[in-house]
Amino acid sequence: MKVGVAKETAPGERRVALVPEALGKLQAAGCEILVESGAGSGSAIPDSAYTEAGATIVSADALYQQSDVILKVAKPTTTEIGNFREGQAVIGFLQPLIDPTSAQALARQGVTAISLDAIPRTLSRAQTMDALSSQANVGGYKAVLIAANAYGRYFPLLTTAAGTAKPANVLILGIGVAGLQAIGTAKRLGAVVKAYDVRPETREQAESLGAQFLKLKTTIDATGSGGYARELTDEERASQQAELNEAIGGMDVVITTAQVPGRKPPVLVTADAVGRMKAGSVIVDMAASTLGGNCELSQVGETIQTPNGVTIIAPDNLPASMPAGASAFYARNISSLLLGMVKDGALHLDLEDEVTKSTVISHDGSLVSEAVKKLLEPTPTPAAQPPTAPGGQA
Ligand code: NAD
Repeated sequence: MKVGVAKETAPGERRVALVPEALGKLQAAGCEILVESGAGSGSAIPDSAYTEAGATIVSADALYQQSDVILKVAKPTTTEIGNFREGQAVIGFLQPLIDPTSAQALARQGVTAISLDAIPRTLSRAQTMDALSSQANVGGYKAVLIAANAYGRYFPLLTTAAGTAKPANVLILGIGVAGLQAIGTAKRLGAVVKAYDVRPETREQAESLGAQFLKLKTTIDATGSGGYARELTDEERASQQAELNEAIGGMDVVITTAQVPGRKPPVLVTADAVGRMKAGSVIVDMAASTLGGNCELSQVGETIQTPNGVTIIAPDNLPASMPAGASAFYARNISSLLLGMVKDGALHLDLEDEVTKSTVISHDGSLVSEAVKKLLEPTPTPAAQPPTAPGGQA
């Protein structure tokens, strides 16, 4: 079976789906690896490193013509979808629940689409395939470094002959995978770290890393399914916000990571809270996307300065800003998923298997994911209304 590694073409995407160190296990399982020329360049991996590991460097055309399975990071662009041929498979962060039409286009082209972001994350044998976690980990680490770089003072307490520097007060909002890594990184830099989440079990996790859990008077347990949070009710949100605004005002750095699956990220740092922060404070909004972010004033992909001197940074692809490290983890995740689907040197999809069932979105020319099919169902048109007479009366 020929496994192709495509060069990413999405703007700013510097990661690559496989690194040379990950080739050995796939080769041992009977896979021949083709790598598109320059695929590793964004991650400082030259073509020669892949050749030394036993891969063949090919052009983009040859990759799409010859590969049985193509490995990617970002979901294929419209042009890339056009390059696939019937019977081929693609594995990557396909985001079918955000972009079901691309999944449909792959299905129509007869491509087997396997989405790494649909891994059942709580299944213990799927841990090594959990690219959402590995990339969130990179993001949490990098968010703290970006904040420290933008903050015009020290993170640690420092006593020198020239005086004493106070440690930075850092607040992490959302204690999931990214939040835990952000806590650990900010602690290692010497900051005083507080953290908050709406899932009570996160308190112990934050404290075990040396952070103080921000305890609000309003007790909210928003534990949802699968370890995720549920959306707060309007009442819960209002009581949470008043207390959060007060806490945020006293912080030098706020890093937000809060997400609710399938929903717009909750606003946790309002314009009012930003207005309470001191000049020189920094906010890094990891949840920012075109859907919005955790900070009301975030502009995705931008760094802005508020009139009261607060810097708000809303990076749009943090893992891609640490491409070599992020790609090394991603390669482990994607090869672990692929290895579980290879039998006698060929792709063998057992749709009864929990991992395969969850990740295969299209197969044999049809969409197989019920969730994606549902998203593509036409929305019922509202029943015809009787014409409105002048003056507003029907
Ligand atoms: P996520 O990216 O969906 O959200 C990040 C955090 O934001 C979560 O901890 C969530 O509770 C929090 N949040 C949401 N709304 C909030 C609000 N209004 N205020 C404050 N915080 C809010 O989550 P994630 O990092 O992808 O993972 C979340 C959890 O999933 C993990 O902590 C874990 O329990 C579970 N998980 C389990 C495994 C495993 O079992 N192997 C692997 C990965 C994740």
